Amino acid sequence: MDNKQISEEKINEIRKSVDIVDVISTYLPLTSKGRNFFGVCPFHADHSPSMSVSKDKQIYRCFSCGASGNVLKFIMDYENISFVESLKIVSELGGIELNVKGISKPINKNTELYEIFDLSHKLYQNNINTEQGLEAKKYLKDRNIDNEIIKEFEIGLSLKNNKILTSMLENKNYKKNTMLNTGLIGENDKGIHDVFYNRLMFPLYDLTGKVVSYSGRIFDSEEKPKYLTTKETEIFKKGELLYNYHKAKDYARKQNQIIIMEGFMDVIAAYKVGIKNVVATMGTAVTKEQAILIKRLAKEVILLFDGDEAGEKATFACSDELSKIGVIPKIVRLENNLDPDDYINKFGEKKFIEKLNNPISVLDFKLTYLKKNKNLDDNIDFASYINSAINETSKIEDEILVELTLQKLSSESNISINVLRDKLNKLKTNTEDKNNIEVKKEINKNEITSEKNLLYYMLNSKEVVTIFSNNAVYLPTEEYRLLAKEIVAIYKETKEVNIADIMTTLFDNESYMKTINKLLSLELKDEYKKEDITSYIREISIYNIKKEKDRLKSLMHMEIERDKKSEIAQKITELKKQQLELEKEGYENGK
Ligand SMILES: [Zn+2]
Repeated sequence: MDNKQISEEKINEIRKSVDIVDVISTYLPLTSKGRNFFGVCPFHADHSPSMSVSKDKQIYRCFSCGASGNVLKFIMDYENISFVESLKIVSELGGIELNVKGISKPINKNTELYEIFDLSHKLYQNNINTEQGLEAKKYLKDRNIDNEIIKEFEIGLSLKNNKILTSMLENKNYKKNTMLNTGLIGENDKGIHDVFYNRLMFPLYDLTGKVVSYSGRIFDSEEKPKYLTTKETEIFKKGELLYNYHKAKDYARKQNQIIIMEGFMDVIAAYKVGIKNVVATMGTAVTKEQAILIKRLAKEVILLFDGDEAGEKATFACSDELSKIGVIPKIVRLENNLDPDDYINKFGEKKFIEKLNNPISVLDFKLTYLKKNKNLDDNIDFASYINSAINETSKIEDEILVELTLQKLSSESNISINVLRDKLNKLKTNTEDKNNIEVKKEINKNEITSEKNLLYYMLNSKEVVTIFSNNAVYLPTEEYRLLAKEIVAIYKETKEVNIADIMTTLFDNESYMKTINKLLSLELKDEYKKEDITSYIREISIYNIKKEKDRLKSLMHMEIERDKKSEIAQKITELKKQQLELEKEGYENGK
């Protein structure tokens, strides 16, 4: 995070200009419970309200995945944008002027990769508009891709010569390794060369809309492969991206519906008929990261994959991945093995939109799918169908839908509905038990409570920070010791201590954030008594003394020289005295 050009004060002023509860509730529904607000966490796979938002502390925290931060961090992660961009959004919400023009872009280790993609992007787009691009444009036109679509999707062209981009980059003095790392330049025994030549260039974007890869398509020959995509790189990881995400997110949120397709050509086909709330998975099996991105886009999710068997399989797998995080998609299947573009060409725009407006439930889709290729007259096949059907039903939360499905299965199978329901209930209890065990594993750590409690209050109180500094107590656990040091430093610099601002300073440091999160999970009362703080410090001191005593004792056992032995013994007696004193003090204070 590079926020050095904006003063800490300005950042804090901007953060304070909005209420985190107001802001987060524009992204997800929050319900209030006591002093806090709760909602479904958008950062992990879940469907119960595991995220709490504190109005007092101006922070959010997820009990389940550990995501936490202030309003700036929330917007950053939700929108997949940089710190400065998030700051800009919040400053606008809060009506605070912020001039970001003078702020230099964060220096990222991948800056050069982005630069090279930017250069290549300009080059390819320019090519298609020259005379040499005429043939490519004609090819696109024959496929109903007009100038408007070319512009919208920034389609470009790489020319027949495979040295153009290479020499351009060489002239700009990029290192060979950097060039190779983009995936745009390759190397053979003749040296380095452009990977893409004589291809239509479809840029692939990251979540923020930066070009990070291309799919290059052959258009004037039978050369193989038909499509060529850059290899995965530092900035291009297929499983973390959704094609068209940066453009679709606003449409999806407005319509509260997102359509998921297989490839970028499908998205282009959808645009041709005016559908813009659409993203593509880029042909890979949908990952958990992608599922979470989809979940953030809209409540209604429609899967519209190719009509062939591969598309059917992908639909099944994708609905599974989504249902794990509580998203129950709706399904559209296209007949005759067609993909969206072919379908529109064959049956027309109207029929396509009609299909889209009448999706089937995921359960209906799955039950049909499970029946496929099974001989239901065969007892074993039939039993396996019923078992998988029950398994699928167990993933559904809608009670009415569950009941209807059980009825259907019962009449189909002649098995009593009670038997089916029993089976379903058993399945559900098993999964819940498993989840509970996993939660329990998390807790139960061997640390001293006083240390954690002390830090908990240091996160929000100048007074506690001052008491801590004055006592110069040594914190035995390293992660707490380091965090305490940071808090003291922040206090010295800003004369302020509050958790939301501490998070601004520390949120790009994963280990500090983890520690803060652990502390927040203590959920202590916000008010504290001064005696409590002194007793925490006392207990930590006693703990340290005991540790030191143990260390000295084992040292003494190993010592052979008499003088040294008695010297150590003396030290131990000294420590014992100190310990007793502290214990007495605690006793007198009722601790
Ligand atoms: Zn979470």
